[in-house]
Amino acid sequence: MHFQTLFPFYFSSSMFEDIFDCKYKFFKKYCQKLIPVNAKNPHLIAGGNIATALERTRKAYYNNGLDADSAIEEGFTYLLTEAEDSKDDLKTTERVAFAFKRYFKSFPLEEELKPCELIDGTHAVEYQFELDLGIPHPDYPHRNLIFTGKLDFLGERKDAHNRLKRFVLDEKSTKNVKRKTGTKEVDFDREKEEYLTRGQFIGYHWAAHMLGVKTESTLIRRIPLTKEPEPPYELEVECSDFMIQCWEGSIYGEILELVERYKAYKQYEHKENNDRRCFNPVYNMACDRFASPCTYKVACLIPEGDEVLAMTCKQLIAYPENRIGQELTLSDYINQIERSLNEQHTTENS
Ligand code: SF4
Repeated sequence: MHFQTLFPFYFSSSMFEDIFDCKYKFFKKYCQKLIPVNAKNPHLIAGGNIATALERTRKAYYNNGLDADSAIEEGFTYLLTEAEDSKDDLKTTERVAFAFKRYFKSFPLEEELKPCELIDGTHAVEYQFELDLGIPHPDYPHRNLIFTGKLDFLGERKDAHNRLKRFVLDEKSTKNVKRKTGTKEVDFDREKEEYLTRGQFIGYHWAAHMLGVKTESTLIRRIPLTKEPEPPYELEVECSDFMIQCWEGSIYGEILELVERYKAYKQYEHKENNDRRCFNPVYNMACDRFASPCTYKVACLIPEGDEVLAMTCKQLIAYPENRIGQELTLSDYINQIERSLNEQHTTENS
């Protein structure tokens, strides 16, 4: 069994979780683009629903000029009428919808942070960014790799000393709130600890700085989806220039290494086991992250694993490469790229 490959054109913060987890997982997911057929993760569905509802509300309020109540109603109605049910008892669309309403009671839109202005004069609300990493793509070296992502909201407000402070804002729903021992009180210190070195947020600060906004902290608004309804709460986590520089060095180093590994793989593409030699499986806790088995485990257990994956997965282009929201196979995507290259070549030579 031999799968076609294409190195990713786009890198995003969430990809780095897989990259740091296991290089082989990166290869299967982002180079061979093996996506499980009919895979559903209730936590991702519920998290995605909240993100979409917040996006609709903020766009309605900031971009379309709706008043706060009508804007919140847009997100609420989306959750109750359009959003896919996660089939998780604590994360049903109704529970998520009422948690969404509670969120705006604690953090009213009118008292929200003011959105920051970016270098191009637009405002940082649901802003999709693409930043050229200056690293040539190993399959198509005339194109550079891109770091992409969506900044939900960059906001500013004055601190206790009347100094204007800029923030990356992110909402995270949770079923598991950390409590102080023997009480029902939220343990804010332990909650914050979890996010101090979270690369996803450092990556957003890096992007914000590249876009001309000097952010200093992340505001993480936790939305509890616990048995007993409870209000959301806010954690402020500092992000220093030192952390951003270290993160930048780390992701550049990782990407350059992946490019070299991929080139080594392509040199002996059809040699048996060459994929495992160039992108080593880790065989550790990453194989069962979040108590669910890694999609590619079978390929790490038996030599014929790829035959099994060919039946359970499809080679599909997913976000962030595919933004059209329609199914796009790897072979169709490569054909598109080749066609546009040929057209470009013909135009240049005519
Ligand atoms: S099962 Fe483990 S070793 Fe294999 S790809 Fe997944 S994370 Fe890597």
